[in-house]
Amino acid sequence: MSSVVGSDWEAVIGMEVHVQLATRSKMFCGCATDYLGKPPNSNVCPVCLGLPGTLPVINRKAVELLLKSALALNCEIQEFTKFDRKNYFYPDLPKGYQISQYDLPMSRNGWIEVAGKRVRITRVHLEEDTGRLVHAGDSLHSGGVSMVDLNRSGMPLMEIVTEPDLRSAADARDYAVELRALLRTIGASEAEMEKGHLRAEANVSLRPRGSEQLGVKTELKNINSFRALFRAVEFELKRQAEVLESGGQVVQETRGWSEAEQRTVTQRSKEGAEDYPLLPRAGPAAPELRAGLHRGASRLAAGAAGSAPRAPCRRAGTVRVRRRPDHGRG
Ligand SMILES: [Zn+2]
Repeated sequence: MSSVVGSDWEAVIGMEVHVQLATRSKMFCGCATDYLGKPPNSNVCPVCLGLPGTLPVINRKAVELLLKSALALNCEIQEFTKFDRKNYFYPDLPKGYQISQYDLPMSRNGWIEVAGKRVRITRVHLEEDTGRLVHAGDSLHSGGVSMVDLNRSGMPLMEIVTEPDLRSAADARDYAVELRALLRTIGASEAEMEKGHLRAEANVSLRPRGSEQLGVKTELKNINSFRALFRAVEFELKRQAEVLESGGQVVQETRGWSEAEQRTVTQRSKEGAEDYPLLPRAGPAAPELRAGLHRGASRLAAGAAGSAPRAPCRRAGTVRVRRRPDHGRG
């Protein structure tokens, strides 16, 4: 039970969940997706390293799994979609940009029922994963050396974003549990939180009960279990209530969950879109999908009627993915 339940404050929580899709090859190249346990930087190629002159090719299987997921989440499939470059530099992203979807995601406006309540889905889109930093020692701050492993770079990621419809830590956890069950049922992902297949982030804010306005939110990251999700949101709601009740203001920031300390800690302060300049449809490095998503979605829904019971069959046809000569294995 959240400390703010029954108080003067109402919790307002939205979720962003990243899901590694169950494909055999990466999002835009032919590298395998079973990188766990492989020697660092052995599962890479010029495409997922982002070397100059390489061209990404969309993975058809990833598109199919996204469509299946979007249908199961009652989303509208968009007829035209494209990929954009989200520019930022971080050591685990040496090429300096992530291929993602900005203004034209593959699907929007869905919903999922969680414990009898409808949670609205804002969008479901595709992007690529980054590499990983491995810190010698316990953490970024105490470790003497950090190393980069790019085996994960370019893994297909599906991002599922909700409207701020959740009202408690239990709601947030129940949503993630329900989502995992759905993704496993339709075969979109193994969805193991502990293995990083499913990464949940919660946007948490408080507002005076009865108010329609949204309060200042914090974004919670580093959550790798359902229990941690519950505890992180619970802690954050209490922390924000204390800040507000002592006359202070919540600072918009990203906070990580410290399992050791059982508390959220500041990671970085407010980030806006200006921190991630976008290059819309940036040339050949930003592939697009033209017509056929509607028909493909419906064919999948019809063909997978048994495995996607919540997916309404809307239209018929095939997925037509514009692709260059095949180097993806699906
Ligand atoms: Zn590759």
